[in-house]
Amino acid sequence: MNLFKFKNTYNQLPSSFFSQAIPEKFPNGKLLRVNEDLFTELSNEKITSEDKEKLELIMNGQSQSEDLANIAMAYSGHQFGHFSPVLGDGRAYLVGEISDFEKKKFDLHLKGSGRTIFSRGGDGKSPLGPVVREYIISEAMHSLGIPTTRSLAIFATDQDVQREKVLKGGVLARTAKSHIRIGTFEFFASQEDLSSLQTLVDYTIDRHYPEILKQQDHNQKIIMLIESVARAQASMVANWMRVGFIHGVMNTDNMTITGETIDYGPCAFMDYYEQNKVYSSIDRHGRYAYNNQIKIAVWNLYRFISCLIPLIKADSEEGQLEYLQENTNHLEAIYRAENLKQMAKKFGIEKPVAMDEILIDDFLSYLESESLDFTNSFTLLRMNPKELKQTQKLDAFLKQWYKRLEGISNFKEVMKNNNPSIIPRNHHVEKAISNCYEGDFSFFDQLNLNLTTPYQDDKIEDDFTKPPEEDQVVKNTFCGT
Ligand code: AMP
Ligand code: MG
Repeated sequence: MNLFKFKNTYNQLPSSFFSQAIPEKFPNGKLLRVNEDLFTELSNEKITSEDKEKLELIMNGQSQSEDLANIAMAYSGHQFGHFSPVLGDGRAYLVGEISDFEKKKFDLHLKGSGRTIFSRGGDGKSPLGPVVREYIISEAMHSLGIPTTRSLAIFATDQDVQREKVLKGGVLARTAKSHIRIGTFEFFASQEDLSSLQTLVDYTIDRHYPEILKQQDHNQKIIMLIESVARAQASMVANWMRVGFIHGVMNTDNMTITGETIDYGPCAFMDYYEQNKVYSSIDRHGRYAYNNQIKIAVWNLYRFISCLIPLIKADSEEGQLEYLQENTNHLEAIYRAENLKQMAKKFGIEKPVAMDEILIDDFLSYLESESLDFTNSFTLLRMNPKELKQTQKLDAFLKQWYKRLEGISNFKEVMKNNNPSIIPRNHHVEKAISNCYEGDFSFFDQLNLNLTTPYQDDKIEDDFTKPPEEDQVVKNTFCGT
């Protein structure tokens, strides 16, 4: 099979869905890294030098293939709570859709290859740093078992990009089940383009949630779509909570309809635990703080639901609203239940009850009051709680926890499978980035290799599990693109 033989569907949708866009040519650019494992996962074949040449031609903008989609997708978005009616792919392109050998579809996107109609004041480019960052963190996320867009390749453009400093340019090739976002629905809903909105609903069901096709009732189909999206996104965000991931820009344009984590901008994994931790330099009011993420995901779901009001068949607008409210008011609870489920697993509990929330909070509050490392403290809790900093709070927690574990024989295994020993720590990611700017990918490779087995502590080099020394702490993360 030829992975880069595209079979496109999104560009067959009405022209309001996208704008044709030609990636910029970078004849002197160079393919720096290819994710050979991902290539094999998608194609069931080993990558050949011919495949690499094809990929390089796609990334340097010189592919002559006739089956390229080459479109920039249209979408809106609520950014930090405020609605922007037109965003769209301003620095990304949908190159084409690939079918893997199991006949699932994946988008192949380029990020950083020049301007599109949606670029507004931006240059459509990306420095190499954010490309490297997205590659490391998205692949780490995948290894952690969390749905995410994937990174297929890193390309250096051999052109400088002007940011606060002049930086080397880069392009990322990423794959995703699709790039449909809540913001894509908002785009048509805000224009009251109900025909396109219905087309998008049908396309999304067809591509991502085909089990809904069995449902004959028009309104129930929409409810099922909402519920499927809610479940996928709730599970994604609860998983972020489990591993201490702070996305940082949970705008509705950065929430995929498939529940894949997307847009690795100013995101970060926490070192020491702080419930309201914020890394992003642009998140001044902490809207997307660690502990707000579940609430925000629910807020985003309501933005999705409100897009669909006009599609509900009812006698009046009130009737539409009532129908949606009645049929979706149980969804918020799914987010809380998912969160409890994922957090409880960190303590070895697979079937949590409401009271477990207190137990979880007690331990987290102990971590916060002692400024302890989130990841490593759970490893210690599993291996040897005596090595944790001994305090009264810990003591009280341990008593309750041991009592709760009575009769649960597999708790250590559950803990091992749900508490990573390694996360992509900010200081390691930053070190990889600065080395890559110097042309040295050895640390990048070593870090990525360690990140592929987060639940097998025997395979991880000690250095990668260490929290940063005081002078290594990264306090803020930046979009940088
Ligand atoms: P983000 O905050 O990264 O999700 O991006 C929000 C919007 O800004 C999207 O429409 C992006 O396509 C656009 N954007 C971000 N960076 C650039 C850039 N360098 N050039 C053009 N558009 C950009
Ligand atoms: Mg985005």
